[in-house]
Amino acid sequence: METPKPPTRPIHTAVLLAIGSELTVGETRDTNSGDLARSLSEAGVDVAWISALPDRLGTVTAALGDALAAADLVVTTGGLGPTPDDLTREAIADLCGEVPAVDPELERWLRHLFERRGLAFATTNLKQAWLIASTTAIPNERGTAPGWWIDRPDGRVIAALPGPPSEMRPMWQGWVLPRLRERGLGRERVTRTYRLAGIGESSVAALLGEQLLRAENPIVATYARADAVDVRISAVAAADHSAAMLADEAAAAVLAKIGDHVWGHDDDTWPAVLGRALEARGWDAALVEVSTGGATARLLGEAGWLRSARVVAAGSPGADVALAVVAERARTDSGASIGLAVRAIETAEDTRVELAAVGPWGVSETSQTAFLGGSEGRRRAALAAAAFLHDILREAARG
Ligand code: ATP
Ligand code: MG
Repeated sequence: METPKPPTRPIHTAVLLAIGSELTVGETRDTNSGDLARSLSEAGVDVAWISALPDRLGTVTAALGDALAAADLVVTTGGLGPTPDDLTREAIADLCGEVPAVDPELERWLRHLFERRGLAFATTNLKQAWLIASTTAIPNERGTAPGWWIDRPDGRVIAALPGPPSEMRPMWQGWVLPRLRERGLGRERVTRTYRLAGIGESSVAALLGEQLLRAENPIVATYARADAVDVRISAVAAADHSAAMLADEAAAAVLAKIGDHVWGHDDDTWPAVLGRALEARGWDAALVEVSTGGATARLLGEAGWLRSARVVAAGSPGADVALAVVAERARTDSGASIGLAVRAIETAEDTRVELAAVGPWGVSETSQTAFLGGSEGRRRAALAAAAFLHDILREAARG
């Protein structure tokens, strides 16, 4: 009798399980799930949750059951080794109500691997040649633990991959992902990211309001990154609206509230955004920073438009000259169109940031308080300098 083909079920949701007590005692960080989550999210799959589990059969079997009840796809990593504490196969077999047996072809392959390395073959290794009836072995070219691909009768899929990232990743990319794509992987998803300056994450959240931030589609979320507060909108198609339409509607609502703070989109960085604005006018810039530890030069990095960057320590000669004069000197010395100067002054708990820029439009000066002192305050001073230059260039573009 021919085994019936499993119904094809599109893969829209996933649960990720990282298995191994080394994870739950904190010896190893679970990077596998993060990598898989990123890959799946990019494909438009909704990752319902991620768990790390100890090498305990009951715990793993129960977690697998919960995951499979909730998601179209369950991916496990770890616990495929030869030792008794590697229990992923046993847990999957339990859940499926099937009994593992040594697969002769896998056994041959495994024995050959040991021969090739001149190693004795211990029978404990035979576990790595186990299969159950519903498994297809996932070849592992970098290790001795093949993965398991399991088709459930209702079209759900379990993929079990080994723990070492160097084995897991190529098996995921080269074998599992292409097969999932054949099933129909993910929903069309449209994401838009707005990058904000001059406002904290909590203020952004307050301005956006609960209604936007709690909606399920599109999802609007805020992220405090090192160089910006990001607002990310992520939409999937609904009954009568395309993903792009939904994203656009949410974007209009978001921009009405926080549009003034937006300096970039998606993968934009400060050097790139400032570079575009400068290039539009045919301008370049010279930078002087006082007692910032070079934080601004680090932020703006190797931007091609930065003619020169000078770091002056507090207390060195000239460090207390009026900042506009410092900016003007940087400009004339380097022949750049704009001179930008930033000075950080640590106060009791925070950092006072003074800013000056001199250019074809004249002189601009401002000062503000950056949260926290020390290197965190200096880092924020650099962001303030970038935002200051950005505001000036925006004004200049408006004429
Ligand atoms: P092996 O046959 O290599 O033992 P395995 O599937 O049994 O494969 P584990 O024993 O669970 O894998 O883990 C092996 C190693 O892989 C761990 O010591 C750790 O370095 C790494 N590893 C396991 N799980 C993860 C994870 N979730 N994230 C990152 N690294 C991991
Ligand atoms: Mg192991």
